[in-house]
Amino acid sequence: MACWNPNIEMMSKEDLDILQLKLLKELVDRAYDRSPLYRERMDEKGVKPDDIMTLDDLSKLPFMSKKDLRDYQPERLFMAGKRDIIRYHASSGTTGKPTIVGYTKKDIETWSESLARALTSAGLGADDIVQVANTYGLFTGGLGFHYAAEKIGAAVVPASTGNTDRQLQMINDLGVTVMAATPSYMIYVGEVAEKMGIDLRKSTLKTGLLGGEPWSDKMRERIQSQFGVRGINCFGASELYGPSWTECDEQCGIHIWRDIAIFEIIDPKTGDKASPGERGELVITMLQKEAFPIIRYRMGDITVMDEEKCACGRSHPRMMRISGRVDDMLIIRGINVFPSQVEHCLHTNPEVGNEFQIVVDRKGALDDMLVKVELKPEAFTDNILELNALRERITSRLKNSLNVGAKVELVPTGSLPRFEGKARRVMDRRDI
Ligand code: ADP
Ligand code: ZN
Repeated sequence: MACWNPNIEMMSKEDLDILQLKLLKELVDRAYDRSPLYRERMDEKGVKPDDIMTLDDLSKLPFMSKKDLRDYQPERLFMAGKRDIIRYHASSGTTGKPTIVGYTKKDIETWSESLARALTSAGLGADDIVQVANTYGLFTGGLGFHYAAEKIGAAVVPASTGNTDRQLQMINDLGVTVMAATPSYMIYVGEVAEKMGIDLRKSTLKTGLLGGEPWSDKMRERIQSQFGVRGINCFGASELYGPSWTECDEQCGIHIWRDIAIFEIIDPKTGDKASPGERGELVITMLQKEAFPIIRYRMGDITVMDEEKCACGRSHPRMMRISGRVDDMLIIRGINVFPSQVEHCLHTNPEVGNEFQIVVDRKGALDDMLVKVELKPEAFTDNILELNALRERITSRLKNSLNVGAKVELVPTGSLPRFEGKARRVMDRRDI
C-alpha cells in the first residue's frame, strides 16, 4: 500500500518515542520563550522547560481551554511575530465566540504534510479528482483539503458548499472520484441525486472524506450502501491547523501522527489521565506549531485512543469515533445523552430516513425530550395502526439505549432541515 512518508509512518515505536520527546522539548522551550500567556501559565504551575525530561512529564504542564484562546490577545498568545504570520483562519464557533488562528509558512506546510500522509493512507493519489465541498474561507475545511489533495498530485475541484445540482453535474462531467464534505452534506448530496434520477452508485464517485461533526458507524453504513461512497472519517479543528488526520484504508480509527501531535485522554471531571481503553475528554498538544501554541489543549471532544499497531502496518496511535462533545452532551432528567447515541439507535430501524431532530423542553420541573424522525418514503403509510406500531418500536428502542424516555414523532422524508456545513440537530429550549 502506498505511503506518503514511509520513514515516519513506518517508524518503530521506540524511535517515535525519541523523536516525540525531542519535539516536545523544543515546543515547550519555544512557548516559554515566546508566548507570554503560556509562560505565565507554566510559572503559575511552577513548571520550567527543563522539567520536561520524559514523555510522561507532559502531565506536569498546565491545560489550555477554549476560553483561554478566546479571552487573550494574539500578542499575548502567539509564539510568532506579525511578520512571520502568513495566514489567518477562524473556528466555526459551534460552542461560542470563534477563535482566530494564525499560521506561519511552516505551519501551512506541516498541515498539508499531515493531511497528505492521511489521504495517501486512505488510498488516494495522483489519479484522483477531489471535489472539495467544504466551505472555503475563514473555515479551515476548504483550503485544508485543497492544499493536501494538490500536494499528493490529485486534481482539485474547489466547489465549496451549496449549489448541489452543480456539484452533481461536476461529478459527472469531470469524473470526480472523491468528495470532501460534512457527513450531513454528503447525505444531502445523495438525496438530491436520487431526486434528479442520478444513481451515485453508478457514478465515478468512490470516496467521501467526511468529518467536521460527530457521526455514527450506522450513518457510515448508510452512506456506503445507499450511495456507494466509501466514508473515510476525517478529523481536525481550526486551532490545530484544520482537517489534518483521517482513517487509512482499513477504516478502523484515525491515525494521529506522533511527530505532529500528542493526543491524551483525561477524565473530564478530575483532569486525571484515563486508563488505557477508557473513553474521556481529548487533550491535544501540537508538536510542530510555530505561530499558535496548542499545548495540553482541552478539546471538549469525547473519545478513546487505540495504541495497537494498525493492520496497515503503521505504528501511530488511532483515535476512535468521537461520541460527542462534553458541551453538547444533553442532561435529560439527570441522564447523559449524546445526540450521536440517538442517531445510532434510530439508524438500527430500516424504516428510518436520513434526518432527525431533538427538541428538549421543560414541562414544569421535568425535562421533556421529543425526537422527530424522518421516515423513508416507502415507510410512510396512511395506515395509522402501522405507523403507531412503528413509533412504539422506535420509542422503546430509544428508551432501552438511552436509559431515559423520549417522545417520538414520525415525519415524512424531506420535512426536517438539511445542512450544507455542520448539522444542528438539537434544539434545547430549556433556557429560553
Ligand atoms: P468549532 O469548534 O467552532 O466547531 P471547528 O470548525 O474547528 O471549530 O471544528 C472542530 C470540531 O469539530 C472538533 O472539536 C469536533 O468537535 C468536531 N469534529 C471534527 N471532525 C469530527 C469527526 N470526524 N467526528 C466528530 N467530531 C468532529
Ligand atoms: Zn492503518
